[in-house]
Amino acid sequence: MDMEIVKGFLLNLLFILVIMLLAHIVFFSKNKSVKNHFRSVDVLLFSSVQILFCLFFSVKVAQGFYYDLRFIPFLIGSIYGGRWVTLSLTAIIILLRIPLGGTGIYISIISTLIMALIIFVFHQKINHLRKWHKFITISGISFLYTIPGFLIPSILFDFFHVRTYLIYSLILTFSTFFVVYLLELLTKYQTFQEELIRYEKMELVGQLAASISHEVKNPLTTVNGFLQLIAENTKEHITKKYAVIALEESSRAVAIIEDYLTFAKPETIKTVPLNVQTELKKCIEIISPLANQAGIIIRTDNIQQGIIKGDSSKFRQVIINICKNGIEAMSKGGVLSISTESNDDEITIIIKDNGIGMLPEQLNRLGEPFYSLKEGKGTGLGMMVVFRIIKTLNGGVHINSVFGKGTCVNITFPLKK
Ligand code: ADP
Ligand code: MG
Repeated sequence: MDMEIVKGFLLNLLFILVIMLLAHIVFFSKNKSVKNHFRSVDVLLFSSVQILFCLFFSVKVAQGFYYDLRFIPFLIGSIYGGRWVTLSLTAIIILLRIPLGGTGIYISIISTLIMALIIFVFHQKINHLRKWHKFITISGISFLYTIPGFLIPSILFDFFHVRTYLIYSLILTFSTFFVVYLLELLTKYQTFQEELIRYEKMELVGQLAASISHEVKNPLTTVNGFLQLIAENTKEHITKKYAVIALEESSRAVAIIEDYLTFAKPETIKTVPLNVQTELKKCIEIISPLANQAGIIIRTDNIQQGIIKGDSSKFRQVIINICKNGIEAMSKGGVLSISTESNDDEITIIIKDNGIGMLPEQLNRLGEPFYSLKEGKGTGLGMMVVFRIIKTLNGGVHINSVFGKGTCVNITFPLKK
């Protein structure tokens, strides 16, 4: 009997693992990003198939009582898939158990409902646990399940054997641990892969930056200076007009090169105490003409005082790049709102637009070198620079965006004591 349980369960485990690997290959070959890795529908589909296989190879422990590892796909699917998946899987696992029949059905339904409730309430907390805590908690839930699932019914219905219970609970608990561990390992592997690609592109940008930017920037600055002289000194109206246009264009070139230079030597950021309020006011002054031209209102409220450590020009580069994106996202006009929030340790700068917004895939790729949706007009460097600088200033950035509705960028910096 016990041997049968071991054999049956190992077969269950094999199916669970094979289907999990298969699911991973399907996700992977579609070249999806890790962040969209666990789509609820896919999780539901693959978990259901796993449950079906487990039920197919269940072991009859007593009259009307069938045991297998179906709790593992149920548990893991529910935790990674979210509430909607938990509800669906609860229904599926109960419905699929019905054809087997027997008194065990009622026990199965009751224990499944209890566990579903626990998962439903705690799934978000569990998902946010750190790696090992998560593995242990999830395995612990599996162990917990053996109490209403096996221990109590076996005593009530007179088929309790210490050895059988131990085998059941140990295999279930350790298999859960094993499956979660492998799942996280696979996900981590893919994250690394993606980061590597990102990193390689960064490297390329860095090399480009180092090799050409300085060479190009110096002559351009000279050109700028002379154009300015021409614009100021000429008496001919038409020459003045041309000089101003040329000056605008070459200033744009200098700005782009400046973005690149951040990558050539990011470690040269000098940190001095900066007053967020003064810096933000300066930035707003700089972008106001651009906003006016596009028919956009800049709304500022609650711009607080706060001293952070940073480099003034880098800080401005961050704010201006983000504001520019906001302005460019509102081609039909709108409101760009800039505000701050702070507590004892941190100050958060919130920049919000009601422009075109981004799809999750676009948001995901934001900050990748040369990723721009502004055909021809964008460089795809702005946000990369933003992320890079914020990181060097020990800050954090969080972006929410709804396609068609708008975007909200939150930048947080530690306050200097
Ligand atoms: P660029 O502005 O040169 O295109 P960025 O790195 O600044 O490069 O931005 C990358 C892309 O991200 C943009 O082309 C745009 O499609 C998208 N994006 C950035 N900010 C916003 C925003 N506030 N609203 C909508 N889309 C945005
Ligand atoms: Mg930009």
